[in-house]
Amino acid sequence: HLIEHATPERLADAVAHGPPALPSPPGLAAYRARGGYAVLRHAQASGAAGRERMLEALAAASLRGLGGAGFPAARKWRLVMAQPAPRHLVVNADEGEPGTFKDRYCLETEPHRVLEGMLIAAEAIEAEACWIYLRDEYPHLRRVLQQEIAALQAAGLARMPIHLRRGAGAYICGEETALLESLEGRRGYPRHKPPFPGEHGLFGRPTLVHNVETLWWLPEILGDPDGAARLAAMGRRGRQGLRFFSVSGRVRKPGEKLAPAGVTARELVEEFSGGMLPGHRFAAYLPGGASGGILPERLADLPLDFGTLDAQGCFVGSGAVVILSDQDDLAEAARNLVHFFRDESCGQCTPCRVGTAKAAALLGAPRWDRALLEELASAMADGSICGLGQAAMNPVRSLLRHMPEAVP
Ligand code: SF4
Repeated sequence: HLIEHATPERLADAVAHGPPALPSPPGLAAYRARGGYAVLRHAQASGAAGRERMLEALAAASLRGLGGAGFPAARKWRLVMAQPAPRHLVVNADEGEPGTFKDRYCLETEPHRVLEGMLIAAEAIEAEACWIYLRDEYPHLRRVLQQEIAALQAAGLARMPIHLRRGAGAYICGEETALLESLEGRRGYPRHKPPFPGEHGLFGRPTLVHNVETLWWLPEILGDPDGAARLAAMGRRGRQGLRFFSVSGRVRKPGEKLAPAGVTARELVEEFSGGMLPGHRFAAYLPGGASGGILPERLADLPLDFGTLDAQGCFVGSGAVVILSDQDDLAEAARNLVHFFRDESCGQCTPCRVGTAKAAALLGAPRWDRALLEELASAMADGSICGLGQAAMNPVRSLLRHMPEAVP
């Protein structure tokens, strides 16, 4: 109920008529007519010197991995390029963070911009093959990608094979090493790091893993000599660039918002989302989907970017901003999120497998045992293998810290 307000009328309409038809995205010819794939052709023709220029432009644009971790893209490319060939390029399109729908938006509106970004990155690291791991809940995008990849290959634009693979509905397979395991045909258990995928990734080879949105920005940054500087100047409060925010919850106009890095939650509500729904007062927000914690309205003027919410015990991650109102039960929201993590824990390590189940049980009590919840949260954050277990208690911890009055 936090993410979508499905009214009985909308549900009845969907049952009677099926989901609303989606517009077909522009195909290869339309994208090329606007100059699409010129950056790729240039990258293919310009060799080692061109690769170095691309790295410099990425660093100047301060492009970071936009799947949630925010690792600088140029450094990631250099790490992979320093490893011996053969190398792989993997596109993480397993968009599963609750409240996030930016990758879907990019692929629905301009799939070739993402595909061009993918091929540019593949040229930069001299990849042997590209792999796209698409969440299975986007079947319409699978059809689009199948068709457009075939068109790309028929046009001779890709110099390496492109493999499209379906996820199977596991949230954990959005974690990059679980995704690699799944691509290799095994159960999606996250790997211990190090070694990182840049050194030992898909089939044991150096692998560059990028999120869809990161690739979306490459043609723009690399296609215009001033692109990097122009984009970098667009941030607010000392941050650089633009990024997508998926805004949902109690706002008048939820949806995908292209906004300056460093925008605040209050600005996203008031400038980009038409304000709060009638009868609702802004009370709290999730800055980063299920994992990024919960913050009160009084902290809605903090810039939303990598690292800016660390002091509050929260993070912006993949930019899923869920707005809650005075009509939402915040303790119930935190409980709901912990149930989500309990259900999605892969079960590989004890702190997360047992911890999420224990936390769910503790949160069902009429009065929360705050000291025990804090102790459990610390054990899970310190002992879990991957980000799921490490962040699963963020909603509870941030609620206890910032809004103790909302806790039973
Ligand atoms: Fe699996 Fe959770 Fe451990 Fe991650 S932290 S490996 S999801 S059990």
